[in-house]
Amino acid sequence: MIATETSFAEFIKDFEDTLHHLFHEHEDINKLSLERGMPPSLLAKIMDKKPLSVAVPEQFGGRGTKVKECFGILSAASYESLSLSLIFGINIALFIEPVVKYASESVKADVFKNFLSGQKMGGLMITEPAYGSDALNMKTSYKSVDNGYAISGTKHWQGLTGMADYWLIACRKELESGELGRDIDFFIADSKIEKQKVVVKEYYDNLGLYMIPYGLNKLDLFVPEDHKLEPESTGIKMMLDILHRSRMQFPGMARGFIKRMLDEAIKHCSNRVVGAGSLLEMDQIQYQLARIQSAFTVSSAMCVRSCDISGIEHQLAASGIEANSMKAVVTDLMQEASHLLVQVSGANGYRTSHIGGRGIKDSRPFQIFEGSNEMLYSQIAEAVTRHMKKLKQGNLFTYLSELNLTKAASLYFKDKLNFQIDEALVQRKLVDLGRVIARLVSLEYVLDLEPRGFRKDLIENCVDVMKVDINALVGSFRFPNKVNVVRDYQEGSNWMDFAL
Ligand SMILES: Cc1cc2nc3c(=O)[nH]c(=O)nc-3n(C[C@H](O)[C@H](O)[C@H](O)COP(=O)(O)OP(=O)(O)OC[C@H]3O[C@@H](n4cnc5c(N)ncnc54)[C@H](O)[C@@H]3O)c2cc1C
Repeated sequence: MIATETSFAEFIKDFEDTLHHLFHEHEDINKLSLERGMPPSLLAKIMDKKPLSVAVPEQFGGRGTKVKECFGILSAASYESLSLSLIFGINIALFIEPVVKYASESVKADVFKNFLSGQKMGGLMITEPAYGSDALNMKTSYKSVDNGYAISGTKHWQGLTGMADYWLIACRKELESGELGRDIDFFIADSKIEKQKVVVKEYYDNLGLYMIPYGLNKLDLFVPEDHKLEPESTGIKMMLDILHRSRMQFPGMARGFIKRMLDEAIKHCSNRVVGAGSLLEMDQIQYQLARIQSAFTVSSAMCVRSCDISGIEHQLAASGIEANSMKAVVTDLMQEASHLLVQVSGANGYRTSHIGGRGIKDSRPFQIFEGSNEMLYSQIAEAVTRHMKKLKQGNLFTYLSELNLTKAASLYFKDKLNFQIDEALVQRKLVDLGRVIARLVSLEYVLDLEPRGFRKDLIENCVDVMKVDINALVGSFRFPNKVNVVRDYQEGSNWMDFAL
C-alpha cells in the first residue's frame, strides 16, 4: 500500500502494532538492547512500514513532511526504544528536512526514491574532535574543483556512523589565501559512489543508545555541484534554521519516552506491595510519579506548540529562545523521568535490561548533543537580557509579563521575579537564569493547552510541579555564589591527617 493512501490514524496504529509485535513477540527488546547495533532483518521489517515517508514530500511519494505525523512516528518509536526514535529523528530532522528545504531539485527525486523504496538512511556531520560546542570554528573545508567540490576533514560522534547511506556534511570554504571563510556550507555525500564515501577510522564505545553506531570519520571526498545546499541568505542562518527545527522535534522523541517511564512507574507502584500497602499509596511515591506525569504534560504541550511553528515552511533561524527552551527542558525531563522510574523500581531498576536503567543511559546524551543544555540555557538568558537592555527594561517580571512567550506563566511568579537585572551576568548566572526562563516558556505552552481541551487535572498538576521547580531555580539564581574549583587541592586535604 502506498503510504499516502492510508489515513494517518491507520498508518500510526499499524506502525505501533508492528513495533510491539517485533519488540515483544518476535524479539525481546530488553535482551536486544544489550547488544550493539540492530539485526538487519529486524530493521528491514521496521523500515518495510516506511516510517520515514512522513518526512518525504508528497510529490516524491511521501506523506508530506507534516510535523504532527513526524512526531507521531518519533513518539511511537520512543515508547518502545529511544535508540530507534533517535534513528528516525536523525533521518527526519538532520537529513530529510534540510534536503527538502535546501537541496536542488535535481538531487531530491533520486534521494527520496532511495529512502522510500530502498530503506536508505542519512545523517548529519557537524562535530569535529577539536570543535564540538565551538562548531563555527570547524576545520573541515571545501574548495571548488571542476564540476564540483573537494571536501576534506575529520568528523566524529555522527549518529549512524558507517550505517548511513547519505551524509549532510558541514564545512567551511577554503579561501585563496589558504584561510577558511567564516560561513558554513552543507553538502550531500552519497556513499554508494566511491568518490563520495566517508571512511570510518574508529567505532566508539557509546555508553547507551546501543542500536546506533558512533565513531570517527575521515573525509576526503568529491561531490558534484548540485550536492551543495542553497541557503536563502547565509549558510550560518541555514544551519540555525536546521538546528532550531531539529531542537523543536525533541519533544516528539521525548513524549513517547516519558509516557513509557510514566506507564511503567504507575504499573510497578500499583503492583509492588511494601509493608501494609502498595507503593502507590505512599505520599512521596505520589509526588515522584506526579513529577513524571508533569514531564509527560510538558512534552505534550511542546509537541502541540512545535506543530504550530516548526514546519519547514517556517524560517526558524531567529527562534532560538523557543528552540533552546524546548530542547533543554524536555531533555532534562527525560533524564529526570528515567531516574525517578529507577528509584521507584528499587534494585530491579538498576539493571541494563530494565527500561528505566537503560533509559538513564539512553536519554543522558540528549542533554549533551545538538547544543549542550548549559550552552542553550545561557544563550536563552543572553537573548533575553540583550532584549531587556535594548528596551531599557531592567525589571525581569515586567519584561517577562509583556513577552508573548511568558506572558501568562510569569504571573504565577510576580513577587519572585520582581527584581532588576542591571549588570552583566557571569556565565553560571546566565545558565541559572536560562533555566528559569526556559521553564516559564514551557509552562506557557502548558497553559496554552487548556483552551484546546487538554485534560484540566493534568494541567493543574503540572502547574504545581513547575511552580516548585521555578521557585527553586529563581532562588538559586538570586543566591550569590562565586565559588571556584581549587586546582591544586591535594596539600592539606587528606582527612587521615586530621582523624584521631
Ligand atoms: C550520543 C551522541 C550523539 C551525537 N550525534 C551527533 C551527530 O549526529 N552529528 C554530529 O555532528 N555530532 C553529534 N554529536 C556530537 C555532539 O553534538 C557534541 O558532542 C556536542 O556538541 C558537544 O561537543 P564536545 O563533545 O566537543 O564537547 P565540548 O565542546 O568540549 O564541551 C564540553 C562541555 O563543556 C560545556 N560547555 C562547552 N561550551 C559551553 C558554553 N558555551 N556554555 C556553557 N557550557 C559549555 C558543556 O557542559 C559541554 O557539554 C553527538 C554526541 C553524542 C554524545
